[in-house]
Amino acid sequence: MKPIEIANVLQIHRPEEGEFVGVGLYRLLRLVAMEDILGTGASAVSYYAGKKLGKGLQIKQLDDFLALCEQMKIGKVSVPVMTNHRIHVDVCECVTCSGLSPVGRTLCHFEGGLIAGVVENILGKRVQAREITCIGGLGHEACGFDLEIHSGAASCR
Ligand SMILES: [Zn+2]
Repeated sequence: MKPIEIANVLQIHRPEEGEFVGVGLYRLLRLVAMEDILGTGASAVSYYAGKKLGKGLQIKQLDDFLALCEQMKIGKVSVPVMTNHRIHVDVCECVTCSGLSPVGRTLCHFEGGLIAGVVENILGKRVQAREITCIGGLGHEACGFDLEIHSGAASCR
């Protein structure tokens, strides 16, 4: 079976419907359908899916990633802390969860994986993202991700 390439998927031809769909469709797939089938495993699958995609995008500069987030309307992404050892990323108006009544756990594993994958490519170091605040999951103002930067070379995890 031939894999479907990222570049191919991003060739969008919808002359009348346009490039964007309702956020609801994405959320139904991401939060309802995936959890329904995968149960608690959905968060890990979402994280690794995001991470693989993040790496596959081959982004080499943070500004390019921020531009992509804006273009795809993932949310209002900012990087308030960036040192050699610690990076924190905030996402306001998160596409996955902003507006939900809090459910008592973080929800944005896909976004966390995506961020980790992109930053891993940029730094050439292994990066893990942990969501520590979540708008729709826990009632915070932003979905906040702490990135753990490991000294070893990048890997698929
Ligand atoms: Zn969140």
